[in-house]
Amino acid sequence: MRRLRNVKIVATLGPASSDHKTIRALFDAGADVFRLNMSHGSHEEIAKRHKIIRTVEAETGRPIGILADLQGPKLRVGVFAKGAEDLEAGQTFRLDLDDAEGDASRVQLPHPEIFAALEPGSHLLVNDGKIRLVVDRCDTSHASCTVQVGGTISNRKGVNVPDVVLPLAALSEKDRSDLEYVCELGVDWLALSFVQRPKDVWEARELANGRAAIMSKIEKPAAVKEFDEILKVSDGIMVARGDLGVELPVQNVPPIQKRLVRKARTAAKPVIVATQMMESMIESPIPTRAEVSDVAAAIYEGADAVMLSAESAAGDYPVEAVATMNAVAIEVESDPTYREVIDASRGGPKDTVADGIVSAAREIAETTDIKAICCFSQSGTTARLVARERPRVPIIAMTHGDPAARRLALIWGLHCVITGELERFKQAVVNAARAALADGFAEETDHIVVTAGVPFNVPGSTNILRVAPCAERLIFSTEGD
Ligand code: PGA
Ligand code: MN
Repeated sequence: MRRLRNVKIVATLGPASSDHKTIRALFDAGADVFRLNMSHGSHEEIAKRHKIIRTVEAETGRPIGILADLQGPKLRVGVFAKGAEDLEAGQTFRLDLDDAEGDASRVQLPHPEIFAALEPGSHLLVNDGKIRLVVDRCDTSHASCTVQVGGTISNRKGVNVPDVVLPLAALSEKDRSDLEYVCELGVDWLALSFVQRPKDVWEARELANGRAAIMSKIEKPAAVKEFDEILKVSDGIMVARGDLGVELPVQNVPPIQKRLVRKARTAAKPVIVATQMMESMIESPIPTRAEVSDVAAAIYEGADAVMLSAESAAGDYPVEAVATMNAVAIEVESDPTYREVIDASRGGPKDTVADGIVSAAREIAETTDIKAICCFSQSGTTARLVARERPRVPIIAMTHGDPAARRLALIWGLHCVITGELERFKQAVVNAARAALADGFAEETDHIVVTAGVPFNVPGSTNILRVAPCAERLIFSTEGD
């Protein structure tokens, strides 16, 4: 089984997609990675979905990535006596530590560290930015605000504080317990919400201790500012446009998206464009034209993956949403303009041997009649470098085990195949040819490019490039090559 596109699709699972039949249908429609959102769902529900994904993986024989998304320090107000209140522009409204039920004049905000960080003039955004408050006076236990934009505020609505770097730990108690739980369950990626500084990423990396790759969700102005440093310490990036568009003016989101996608590609790290991509498909079997354009734009920009949130987790048309993204991707990638844009945005070759080899592999594959680039990549580093080249021919990433293949499932263009331990380069060529033939990338009379690092088992040591006929699958030599 092979996909007919390079960009990957991440589908969030939820109540609308928690049984085997639907998850299998999502995979068949094009989902490459499943996202488990730790903000919703009990550990039992998460474990159940996890188990189904691994079952689908076994059924289809294709490595599937699982991304566990940690809630992070999401701030919420307390509860109201009436459940909700309407706030009007111009009125005053108080936030404090008192856990008494709220009314039209006040409500609890149970986060003392926030009051300590606020200053007069700081903004507080409630309910996805729909309500806007500005702080007039504050101390360590309250903030007295004026309502700038009114609206309905109800129990436990989320609060965003864009102007200040919050003195909050990146991982709450819940996040730590969720992290441990999903790492033991076995997930491939951990997404960190509301990352503010590189230290936040380190903290999670230490706790994960190699059990999962770390993805930073960029959804705070502070993270946009410190993006270069955050990118350096992250394994992947999510442009989390939902909260980003609350914390910053919405019109700032597209240029940030473009910049982040480009920088992540330059660093050969996967980047997901997320949130509201097919929002109307929560209720409609057909997306708006603007949504189709948005998905297409992310693909033209060179993103590794596009993501569905509520569309696949809680909507009425989860499978249709994935199928639509899949169709848009196939169409965009067959457009000659896509090729021009992708080629024009490729950086020059970098200075390592592996970079030189993957760049040469792409050139050879594109200037001669080569059907696929097969790269042996133990740690995944070389596979990521090949993907950064964004070649016109398919990439087959040959890895040792499940963990590497599943992590790489998120990355542009990589078709991952698990291969046994290798001793000789000849063996690698035979395995590559077999994989290319088995998954329909090439015919017996075709040629492929094979890259590998010899001796084997030394990560990041790619030093061989060979153009091989697929007919070599028949040869098995124990002699050195
Ligand atoms: P969320 O993150 O869905 O967990 O909020 C994505 C976003 O904010 O865009
Ligand atoms: Mn978010």
